[in-house]
Amino acid sequence: MAEKTTILAIDQGTTSTRAMLFDADGRPQASASQELEQIYPRPGWVEHDAEAIWQATLAVGRKVLESVGTEAVAAVGITNQRETTVVWERETARPVGNAIVWQDRRTAEICDGLRADGLETHIAEATGLVPDPYFSATKLAWILSERPELGDRAAAGELCFGTVDSWLIFRLTGGAVHATDATNASRTMLYDIGKGAWDDRLLERLAIPAAMLPEVRDCQGAFGVCEADHFGAELPILGVAGDQQAASFGQACFAPGMIKATYGTGCFALVNTGAQKVTSGNRMLGTIGYQLEGRRTYALEGSIFMAGATIQWLRDALGLFADAAESEAMAAEADPESGVYLVPAFQGLGAPYWDAGARGAILGLSRAASRNEVVRAGLESVAFQTRDLLEAMGRDMTAAGLEPPAALRVDGGMTANRWLMQFLADTVGLPVEVAEIAETTALGAAYHAGLAAGLYGSQDELAQKWRCAARFEPAMPEAERAARYDGWRAAVDRVRSR
Ligand code: ADP
Repeated sequence: MAEKTTILAIDQGTTSTRAMLFDADGRPQASASQELEQIYPRPGWVEHDAEAIWQATLAVGRKVLESVGTEAVAAVGITNQRETTVVWERETARPVGNAIVWQDRRTAEICDGLRADGLETHIAEATGLVPDPYFSATKLAWILSERPELGDRAAAGELCFGTVDSWLIFRLTGGAVHATDATNASRTMLYDIGKGAWDDRLLERLAIPAAMLPEVRDCQGAFGVCEADHFGAELPILGVAGDQQAASFGQACFAPGMIKATYGTGCFALVNTGAQKVTSGNRMLGTIGYQLEGRRTYALEGSIFMAGATIQWLRDALGLFADAAESEAMAAEADPESGVYLVPAFQGLGAPYWDAGARGAILGLSRAASRNEVVRAGLESVAFQTRDLLEAMGRDMTAAGLEPPAALRVDGGMTANRWLMQFLADTVGLPVEVAEIAETTALGAAYHAGLAAGLYGSQDELAQKWRCAARFEPAMPEAERAARYDGWRAAVDRVRSR
C-alpha cells in the first residue's frame, strides 16, 4: 500500500474554487482552481449555482490529484466562503434554488425587524454577531418565507440547510453526512457560541425548523468518507473550517493575543481570545476560532470593506496606474508631508464606526498634490483602518483581562507591497510578519485534516514550522505616528454622516 503523505485541501471561495495538496511537512505540492460565476438577479442580490460549486469542487479535486495520485492522500480538509446559504432536498441532493451569497443585501428589512423586536442584545450575546444580512439566518428565513411549501417540507425533515462546507460534505459523502463545523456554524447567526448549540429563540423568531439544520462538529474529526467515484478512492474528510478561521489556523495563531490579517479585496482580521468568549464593547464580532475535542477557542473578528478594492478603484476608476504593483513606487516617491488623506467610505464605514451613510473623500489637497500623493493616501488608508480595528480589539481584550497582540501576521495579495507593509508596521506600532506560505486558508484546512489524520504531529509542531517571508519592524518616531493617525481620525470625522 502506498504511503499516505498528502492532504487534499478544498478551498471553496466566493470567486473561485481551489484544490491544493500539502505534503507531510505542510508544504504546498500542487494546486488547481476554477472561476465561479457570480449571479446578480437584482441590485444588491448575489447568488451562486450550488450545483456549479459542487461540479467545480469535483473538477479541481480530480485535476490536482493527477499530479500525486489518490493513493497518497491521507485525508481531505474543507474550507469555504462563510455565511453563503444553500437549501437542498435530503432525498435527491437537489438544491431548491441558487445559493444566496454572503454579500447579498436582500434581507436588510428582516434584520430591521429583528432590531425592532429588541433582539440585538440577544444576538450579540448568543451568536457574537450583529443583525446583518451578511449572515445566513435571514437568508434562510427569506428562502423559506418566499416559498411557503418549503417551510412545511423543511419541518418534515425533507430539506437540508447548510453553508457551503455542509453542502460539499453532503455531496462528497453521497448524502451520508449532514454536518458543519463550529466555525461555520458561528457565522450563521443561529448558533449560540457560548453554549455550543443552535439558538431556539432565533430559530423560532425566524420560523426555521430545527429538522433542517446540520449537526455541528469539531473542526478536526470524522465528517464521513468521500465516495470512491468522486476522487478515485474513498477518502476521509477529517478537517473543516470557514475561510477566515482556517487562515488564522494556517497562520498558527494558536495562543491568545495572536492575530492575523488577510489583505485581499477587503481585509479580515482575527485575534485569538483563547477559551474566553469576549463580547465586544466596540462592535467587533465574536466568533469561534476553532473547536477541538468539544473545546472552543474563541476569536474577535473585524473587517475592512475596502483594502485592495481601494487600489482597484485608483487603478480602474481614476486610471492612476495600470498595475496594482506600481502603487508601491508611486507611494515611495510621494511627498511624505503632503497631508493628503483618502477615506475609502465607498460603501459607508465598517468597524468600528458602523456608519452606512458615510461616503468616501480625498482631503487635504493642495496644488502640490499629484497622483503619487493620492495613491500613497490610498495605501495609507489600509494601514489606518487596520489600526482602527486593532485599537478596538485591544480595548475589548484589555477589558477581558487579555494581553493585546504583540505582532501582526499578514497574508493576501496586498502583502506584496513592501512600502505598505512598512507603513503598516509604523502605523500599528507592531512588527508585521508576512507568511511564507501565502495560501494560508487552504493550509489551515490541511492543518485541521492533517492533525486529525496523524500526518502532522501536533499544533506545537505546526507552530514551530511557521515561517515569515518578510518581517517589518515599526520605525516611525512616536510623535509622527500619533500625528499621522490623528490626521486620519480627523479625516474620518469629516466624512461621517452623523
Ligand atoms: P482576493 O482574494 O480578495 O481576490 P488577493 O489576495 O488576490 O484578493 O489580492 C488582490 C488585491 O490586492 C487586489 O485588490 C489588488 O488591488 C491588491 N494588490 C495586489 N498587489 C498589490 C500591490 N503590489 N500593492 C497594492 N495592492 C495590491
